[in-house]
Amino acid sequence: MDNTVDFEYYNTLMVHSVGNRVGPIAPVMAPSAAFGYENAEEAEGIFAGTVAKPLYARVGNPTNGKLESIVAKMEGGIGAIATASGMGAMSMVSMAILNSGDELLCIGGFFGGTYSMVNETLVRFGISNSFCEVDDFDHIESKLKSGIKMVLMESVGNPSLRLPDVQRIIDLCNEYDTILVIDNTATPILLRPIEMGADIVVHSSTKNISGHSAALGGIAVFRSVDPEHDKLLHPKYADLHKFIKKMGDKAFMPIFKKRAIRDMGMTANAFGSFMTMIGLETLPLRIERINQNVEKVASILADSLPEDVSVNHPSLPSSPDYARYKSDFAQGCGPLLTLDCGTKERAFKLLDALNVVIQTANIGDNRSLALHMTSTIFSDFDEEARKFLGVHDGLIRVSIGLEDPKVIAEDFIQAANAI
Ligand SMILES: *Cc1c(COP(=O)(O)O)cnc(C)c1O
Repeated sequence: MDNTVDFEYYNTLMVHSVGNRVGPIAPVMAPSAAFGYENAEEAEGIFAGTVAKPLYARVGNPTNGKLESIVAKMEGGIGAIATASGMGAMSMVSMAILNSGDELLCIGGFFGGTYSMVNETLVRFGISNSFCEVDDFDHIESKLKSGIKMVLMESVGNPSLRLPDVQRIIDLCNEYDTILVIDNTATPILLRPIEMGADIVVHSSTKNISGHSAALGGIAVFRSVDPEHDKLLHPKYADLHKFIKKMGDKAFMPIFKKRAIRDMGMTANAFGSFMTMIGLETLPLRIERINQNVEKVASILADSLPEDVSVNHPSLPSSPDYARYKSDFAQGCGPLLTLDCGTKERAFKLLDALNVVIQTANIGDNRSLALHMTSTIFSDFDEEARKFLGVHDGLIRVSIGLEDPKVIAEDFIQAANAI
């Protein structure tokens, strides 16, 4: 697979898709909650979906629409739906496709919010789950054979930094007619799962896509459906067939709009989508720079940290995923690296000695960020869950930003020496 990213193409695409050539150059905001209809006939058409005009802001607005069309193009999907947050997108996708009694397979380590959504909230609604390591293909195939409806995975384990064999998992889900959802938050542009054959891609746009930490948001992008031969025509998806009959190749749109957005209201707002687009137009430029920075910082730290603090990143030969990084993620696997300080006390000392890097729970920001894991995001997770997710007491998650990599590395080195 040739997965070399043409950043120049995406730089041109993004600035010209977000900006307008005529009239206001910046995206236009339409924060209205309601939209007037021309006449009763038009209202009927809008509600029937035959007239493409705004209905009411819970089911979408023109500013969201612009963001959705750009991200759909970036990911190679037929459409997208913007949501109030990344978790909004995760819950939209899960609640729209799964029913009580269904089972979900989760491959690899997960972001804390997704892990608790699957393990607590979906379970309360009668949706069971199993988790497995990224390379546990025996478990993956046996679950796919048993007829489950959905598989969930992240492009890069956060904070485990395990890299999955994305193409192999996509091919298996297609072989067994199972919907695959990939959380691509860490690797927009670097990994394009829909072009590789995945069904749905989800982002927390709060992270890399915005970059500025000024807008909470999420988005789900979906592929086109083949009304004659699609895997959605499998009898296990019988309750979705009416949407294929009505909307053909765009069937995922009403599945999410009617079964989640309309009924649960995790919709994005116009101001959030506007701010997200302001970030989006420089995404390719930032992604290229940040991913170069991560490798540089990781390599300086590997050489210069004191012996009792270690750095983990797949670009380092010490990582179990070094070979997969080189073959499948040659231009980077996102902004994260981790530090192992041995104990919580030592991790706290290192964090509190940082002068440049900011302590916060976000990732993918333009600034470098760091956070202790077991005392924060994973504080109410039991030992077994932590072990599975690759989280331990000495672990600090770092998200590298746009600063001079030497400055970031220096900050960590002086802080590690101050423990
Ligand atoms: C942050 C994050 C989410 C959740 O996104 P929010 O915008 O915070 O709701 C989901 N997945 C990953 C990988 C994330 O990093």
